[in-house]
Amino acid sequence: MTDPPTMVGHRCITCERVAFPPDPYGCENCGSPASTFEQWDLEARGSVQAVATVHRHHRSTPVTPFTVGVIGLVGGPVVKAIVEGVGVAVGSTVEGFLAHDEPDNEGNVVVDLRFRVIE
Ligand SMILES: [Zn+2]
Repeated sequence: MTDPPTMVGHRCITCERVAFPPDPYGCENCGSPASTFEQWDLEARGSVQAVATVHRHHRSTPVTPFTVGVIGLVGGPVVKAIVEGVGVAVGSTVEGFLAHDEPDNEGNVVVDLRFRVIE
């Protein structure tokens, strides 16, 4: 594992579209088959495009309230993830990290890619 983590996506060789997570069915842009994709490492860094605070959740973790952000990665794709810290706002620059939650009711520890504000 790297810190900050590297996100492994793919790039379409035909049209150069970068996607995360990898799409097993082919390129959404040009229709090329997935067999023509190349692995494409993405930096877990980007800017917040939208935020929402979650107050009710069907599981014990993550503990509410928490903030979910729509994050435009510097490499192009857009992801949704928990953003930790105060002052999370549209335009905030964020960096990814791996969070290890407390075990859930079944004893499973979830390792989750989350983001935190760095600027
Ligand atoms: Zn393509």
